[in-house]
Amino acid sequence: MNSFLNVFEQNSWEEVKASIYSKTEADVRIALNKKKRDLEDFKALISPSAAPFLEEMAKLSRELTLKRFGNTIQMFVPMYLSNECQNICTYCGFSLDNPMRRTTLTEKQIEKEIEVVKSYGYDHILLVTGEANKTVGVDYFEKAIKQIRPHFANISMEVQPLDQDEYEKLLPLGIHGVLVYQETYHEDNYKFHHPKGKKSNFEYRLDTPDRLGRAGVHKIGLGVLIGLEDWRTDSFFNALHLDYLEKTYWKTKYSVSFPRLRPYADKEPKVDMSDRELVQLICAYRIFNEELELTISTRESEKFRNNIIKLGITTVSAGSKTDPGGYASNTDALEQFEISDERTPQEVASMIKGQGYEVVWKDWDQGL
Ligand code: SF4
Repeated sequence: MNSFLNVFEQNSWEEVKASIYSKTEADVRIALNKKKRDLEDFKALISPSAAPFLEEMAKLSRELTLKRFGNTIQMFVPMYLSNECQNICTYCGFSLDNPMRRTTLTEKQIEKEIEVVKSYGYDHILLVTGEANKTVGVDYFEKAIKQIRPHFANISMEVQPLDQDEYEKLLPLGIHGVLVYQETYHEDNYKFHHPKGKKSNFEYRLDTPDRLGRAGVHKIGLGVLIGLEDWRTDSFFNALHLDYLEKTYWKTKYSVSFPRLRPYADKEPKVDMSDRELVQLICAYRIFNEELELTISTRESEKFRNNIIKLGITTVSAGSKTDPGGYASNTDALEQFEISDERTPQEVASMIKGQGYEVVWKDWDQGL
């Protein structure tokens, strides 16, 4: 059976890291001038040697994005259904060891959330929960999806990794995409960041996109949590994963997100990534892969999001609430992370239009 685990095992973190940091300006020039880039080119483009080429990279990234996606930006919003979680993750507000009021939305509460989110104009929604199998397991998802599906053209999920047969049960209900971030590909430190709960099983998580591919999902969303470990090495492994998946499950579409760790409670990220470095990473992905959807969330500041629109991004969220029930009522539930761009969806849409782009609220309709 196909598994990325076999590819992963052939790559050592330290060797990959050394290889990225040894890339030269000449390697970057070669990568920029090629027609089709490979993973070695991606290493060059994310390396420190590429920093002086940022303007050139941004220009190329913009051109490639316009060629493939036109001047459109897709809008979506997350809907948090539950903040219950059985895992301890050292960086997350929903972590089991964080004493807080836990909420899982009832049918009635979901109905209220739908009403508010629809009033913003959204047709693409991302369902998010913590990982608590007993309260928010497959049965809960099944009911929630059936309730939500008639109101939205496109539903994606970012919930606990599931088995293949569980995905096969949920996908026909109208799930278009599933997001599953590895958080970090540094296997030893993964265990440090995820000391308790099902998520501490590195291999099960790493194998999730394979289960999704086998289940026949339309789109898989990948990403690492920037701030946990060296972002260049983590991003290379993410690109390696993407490369493998594209070759193995070639009918599936892929997206990559760039969650930069935001402070929560009083904790700060371990590794810093500057705005310029994040632009470099986004452009590197686009130059490496012209088909990829690239997403930026409200974790990023207003200023950063305004500037990145033209440089390769295809999808943005706006007006997000990261607490369950947060749209319909001002709950006092703790958020998963702090929002940085607090503009309303309409304000963000105006900003996008102001830059000459068409805002797409709905671009695809799956038969009911
Ligand atoms: S990151 Fe996900 S699994 Fe970890 S504590 Fe937060 S909600 Fe739970």
